[in-house]
Amino acid sequence: MGEKNTLLLLPGDGIGPEVMSEVKRVIDWLERKRGVHLSVSDDLVGGASIDAHGVPLTDEAMAAAMAADAVLLGAVGGPKWDDLPFAQKPERGLLRLRKEMALFANLRPAVVFSALVDASPLKPEIVRGLDIVIVRELTGGVYFGEPRGIEDLPGGGRRGINTQVYTTGEIHRIARVACELAQRRNKRVCSVDKANVMESGVLWRQEVQTVCAAEFPEIELSHMYADNCAMQLIRAPQQFDVIVTDNLFGDMLSDEAAMLTGSLGMLPSASLGETDASGRRRALYEPVHGSAPDIAGKGMANPLAVLLSFAMCLRYSLDMAEIAELLEHAVKRVLDGGLRTADIMQQGKARVSTRVMGEAIVHELDKIAA
Ligand code: NAD
Repeated sequence: MGEKNTLLLLPGDGIGPEVMSEVKRVIDWLERKRGVHLSVSDDLVGGASIDAHGVPLTDEAMAAAMAADAVLLGAVGGPKWDDLPFAQKPERGLLRLRKEMALFANLRPAVVFSALVDASPLKPEIVRGLDIVIVRELTGGVYFGEPRGIEDLPGGGRRGINTQVYTTGEIHRIARVACELAQRRNKRVCSVDKANVMESGVLWRQEVQTVCAAEFPEIELSHMYADNCAMQLIRAPQQFDVIVTDNLFGDMLSDEAAMLTGSLGMLPSASLGETDASGRRRALYEPVHGSAPDIAGKGMANPLAVLLSFAMCLRYSLDMAEIAELLEHAVKRVLDGGLRTADIMQQGKARVSTRVMGEAIVHELDKIAA
């Protein structure tokens, strides 16, 4: 297996390029100060690609994404392209990446930095030190299941149909992602389903159990019903380490977990595909936030979500866990030092621009690494 170091940057639209500049600043620091060589290339996605090439993602950019060890994306979309037909919109670029890279696992960490504990809508004692990850199955379940549709009923009225469907193969691969992730963390996985009322949930529970018992005996596996999990995330979120769940429940629970932190500009994510013959897993990293047209071009965007996405990329795709930790530590120290972009501003703290926040991270890296 060769060294994993090829990274494709897709800054995209709106604040995407602004926050991605700060990732480039950190990549430059890694090269100069730590001798970490990443083979980095850039391409267009979303509205930027529509303006330059007439399509939201070119075949060349798609090929570069397939060939890279990891892809880091900023954000796509904006009012300029809102009136385009659905098939030509900037978001189609992102959808094409997800589809062709076959990204079936979505990882959304919810981490509460101690300096930002007051940003959470929950009491500080409930969320202080929170560090959990939701693993959501992304390509199966009720959003894709057949039959689906709306049909007319013979006697009048209509019927809407969607089908919740999972195969053992789909359940096994997402269970493996969750267990491998937990191995690098606190070795606990909570699998979430509705096995009390759904057959697909019964199968989900049995198959997650099978994979964990056979392949990950060191992982402590528990099971929880989705409605209870929604409550437990508010009542006592610290009980979790890794939560694994299907597409529908994951859609909701990951947004709920994100709100525990209270700050959109701080949330990273990863989407993972299958591992290929060379041991490389296709992967796309991106902040949870969008292109924020309301603040684009003003130098106000928080670059920490994309920097934390880059840290996930270093850890999970480029086998550089130590560097990832260094970067996460620098983020923590900058926040502890009182610097804030506008979205996370608090009384008594210093409000800074996107660029100054990025420079402060590099300055902190310098101090930690000295
Ligand atoms: P958004 O996430 O772009 O913005 C929501 C609010 O949060 C805005 O007030 C924005 O200023 C603020 N915000 C977001 N990120 C921030 C950051 N890093 N720093 C400071 N403040 C930040 O969501 P939206 O307004 O619903 O969507 C805007 C555009 O982005 C739309 O075109 C939408 O389709 C697109 N979008 C793209 C993605 C993506 O690329 N993955 C995700 C969501 C939305």
